[in-house]
Formats: sequence, structure tokens, C-alpha cells
Amino acid sequence: MNTLRNHADKEPDTRMTGEPSNPGATRKLFIRTYGCQMNVYDSRRMADALAAAGYEPTERPEEADCIILNTCHIREKAAEKVYSELGRVRALQTARRHEGKDMLVAVAGCVAQAEGEEMVRRAPVVDLVVGPQSYHHLPKLVAQAMAARATPRGRAGIVATDFPAESKFDHLPEETAAAGASAFLTVQEGCDKFCTFCVVPYTRGAEYSRPAGDILAEAQRLVAAGAKEIMLLGQNVNAYHGEGVRGGEWNLARLIRGLAEIDGLQRIRYTTSHPRDMNDDLIEAHGDVPQLMPYLHLPLQSGSDRILKAMNRKHTGGDYRRIIEQLRTARPDIAMASDFIVGFPGETDADFQETMRLVQDVNYAQAYAFKYSARPGTPAATAEDRVSEEAKAERLAALQALLAEQQAAFNGRFLGRTLPVLFDRLGRHPGQHAGRSPWMHAVHAVGPEAWRNQTVDVTITAAGPHGLTGDAREAA
Ligand code: SAM
Ligand code: SF4
Repeated sequence: MNTLRNHADKEPDTRMTGEPSNPGATRKLFIRTYGCQMNVYDSRRMADALAAAGYEPTERPEEADCIILNTCHIREKAAEKVYSELGRVRALQTARRHEGKDMLVAVAGCVAQAEGEEMVRRAPVVDLVVGPQSYHHLPKLVAQAMAARATPRGRAGIVATDFPAESKFDHLPEETAAAGASAFLTVQEGCDKFCTFCVVPYTRGAEYSRPAGDILAEAQRLVAAGAKEIMLLGQNVNAYHGEGVRGGEWNLARLIRGLAEIDGLQRIRYTTSHPRDMNDDLIEAHGDVPQLMPYLHLPLQSGSDRILKAMNRKHTGGDYRRIIEQLRTARPDIAMASDFIVGFPGETDADFQETMRLVQDVNYAQAYAFKYSARPGTPAATAEDRVSEEAKAERLAALQALLAEQQAAFNGRFLGRTLPVLFDRLGRHPGQHAGRSPWMHAVHAVGPEAWRNQTVDVTITAAGPHGLTGDAREAA
């Protein structure tokens, strides 16, 4: 059985490894992507960088000349999981060696950044460890590692985890992969907020915003290649403050207005945003840019001001409520999503009840809840007032039950309504298409092949806890 399939946490996307073909390619590249959408985008850009060096994507790890594990460090035991995956990669490498073929192994992403030299020491199978800010050096690094594999020593053990002065975005080649109907575009990376539970400022580095002109040009290329929806990505996307097109600085609202002028771009989304950066311009854009979809993922983490302070979130529950009110005034149908952490050190039952109250009041369309897990190197990891596993599990179950109830009720409200659905994937059943409503529902419907990558009006005939089913004949 093949154990090395791509599966990103929230938005699985395996297109990167399978589609483009480079006629001059002589070597095969397999990238396994873990974690967030930004890793999915990065994997695509790594494939672009290596396409120029003659690597063609494959979906079959066993035939790869080069394997990259693009890792995520946000969850507990992330590094351990990568080491056990490397055991499986080693078995593939041995099997290839028996066929007289070689396989280079690279680890990228946030675990690579966090482990660095340690990974080369602990995992002899790894030829190259490359952090997120060094992907533009990949062709050179892979060539060096490949050359070392041909020597008697057989392994270079390269570690590229510095934060280079230059931006990788200025040096990565333009994307070569064909876009689907829905494309990711990273506009901002890194974070200066230092929430006490989070590894991102350490693994992705300081906040950096790409120049608006580069983003508009990339968006134009994506649309020309077939994208109808663009999801703007950033660890702190609404902190975006890039160089403007004619000088000055653009914020995210200005960037969205610029993108909305691109012909053929039907939908704009952005993630992940921070309540502190939800400024008036951006709230106003939700009210008057029709392409900006009525769905916003705005993580709250906790409803308790005491815990928010201990988390260094720099906003209160009251601030968050006011933002939601303003957003709903600007765009009454906006659907809200969020992230929550339960069992942060020092969280009492009373703190947790404040989270439950806030969730009840906001009424989410969708949200993720996690048990707090201590991330090595973060300030909260050394806190002593830890919450018991039992209490964390109880709180998680209670919060997830409430969120599931809200999501089911939200979905139920769309029964019988006709919605424009952008179908960007095939479903599992014959003739079935899968796509998204403006409110980010997963919608399935049976229809002709011509629906692929199109926006189609469908009438919702069934609403389940996780998605909707539609029928286009009813919409005619
Ligand atoms: N930048 C976003 C923000 O400010 O909320 C969050 C980005 S983080 C990559 C994604 C989510 O992972 C967070 O919203 C948080 O809920 C969760 N997370 C991060 N660190 C965690 C930890 N140590 N334990 C549990 N969940 C964590
Ligand atoms: Fe992590 Fe988000 Fe906080 Fe930055 S703002 S430290 S990415 S949780």
C-alpha cells in the first residue's frame, strides 16, 4: 500500500504533484504536503522551482528521484511524526536502490526550520533540510545534495534554515502549474505577534508583505490559467502592508480592491486573519466589494479576557464582539468561522464558560477547536498551571458539540435556496461535482462534464452537518 499520499489538514490539494508536465524533464519529484494552505502553495512553488531544474511531478513516491516532505509544526508530536514518516521513506529508498536507482530525500516546512541540524543527525536518510524562507535556493541545494549522493560518502546533509536577507518571492520562478478554478496566492508571510502558544514567529520568521504589483501580476497569471477564485494567504494576512503599485503602502483592503478589477476573477477570499488587524477599511470592503465572499475565518482562541491576555492576543472578547457587529452591519449575510484552543495553561471552568458564551452569541458557520499542546520554545510551554488531559478532553467535546450544532443549523438554513457554486473538483460518485458556495459550504451535485471549473446555480435539496447537496434542474 502506498502510504505517502498528500493530505493537507484543512484543504486537501493533490493537484500540485500531478498536473504539469515539463517536456525536458528527466527526473521525478514527489512532494507530500502537511498542514495549512500556505504549505500547499509552497509545495506548488517548490515544484515550480524544481521544474526549471528538470524535475517533473509524480503522484507515485516509489518512482521519485527526489522526495520532499513539506512539514507542519503546529500540532503536538509534529517532529516525531516526521521522523516516523522518514522511516517509510527510507524503505522506499532501499527498494529503489535494489533496482539500481537513487532517491534524494529533503525535508521542508516548519519542522525542518525548527529541527535544523538535529534532523540531519537523527535521520541518516535525510540529504537536505530546507526552511520556508530558502525555497528559492532549492535547485542549487538539490543539485549539491545530488552530487554528494554520487560520491563515496553518499550524503551531503545540507541544512538551509537561515532567514536570508532577500525575499524568496523575488527569486522563485513564475508559477508553471496550471491553476484550478480555485487558487492560493501567498501575499504575506511570517508573524510578529508572538502569541505565547504559537511556533509560527519562530518557524516562518518576521512578518513580510509582498509588493502589491507582484501579487496583482501573479493573480492575473492565475486567472489567465483558469482561476475564478483566489484565496489570499498569510499567517497574519490582514496585517498585509505591501509596497503599493505607484509607491506608498497598500493594506489588505486596497489590495482586494485592486484584485477586484481583474476581469474574470469572480471570487476573492483571505485567510488567516487576526482580530487586531480587522481595520475599518477591510470591514468596509466586505460591504462594497462584490467579489469578496461573505465568509471570514477570524480566530478567537478563547472567550476569556484573562486567557486572551495570557495568550498575548492583545484584544478582548468585547473587541471581538464589536468587530463581528461591524462586519455584520457592513455585510449582513457574512458567515463567521474561527479557531479555538481549550485547556491553555491556567484556563479554569469559568474561563471556558466564557468561551462557550461567546460562541453562543457569535453563532459560527464553522470552526476548529484544538486542545492546547505545548510547543517547545514558546513561552506558554514552560507554564506550570497546566490543565489536566481529562478537563481538556471534556471541554473540547463540549465546545465541538456546540460548534457542530451551530454548523448544522447554519447549513440547514440554505435548504431550498438557489446558490452559485464554483465546481472545482469531481466528486466521488459518477457524474458528481464538488465545489463551494459563497459561504464556503462544500456542495455536491450531479451534472454534466461542462460544469467542471464553472460557477453554476444549484438549488439545495439536502443539508448535512458538513455540506450541502444541490440540483441544477431545480434552479433552471
Ligand atoms: N494566525 C492565526 C491567528 O492569529 O489566529 C492562526 C494560525 S495557527 C497556524 C492555526 C491555529 O492553530 C491557531 O488559530 C490555533 O487555534 C491553533 N494552534 C496554534 N498553536 C497551537 C497550540 N500550541 N496548541 C493548540 N492549538 C494551536
Ligand atoms: Fe501564531 Fe497567529 Fe499568533 Fe502569529 S498571530 S503568533 S501566527 S497565532
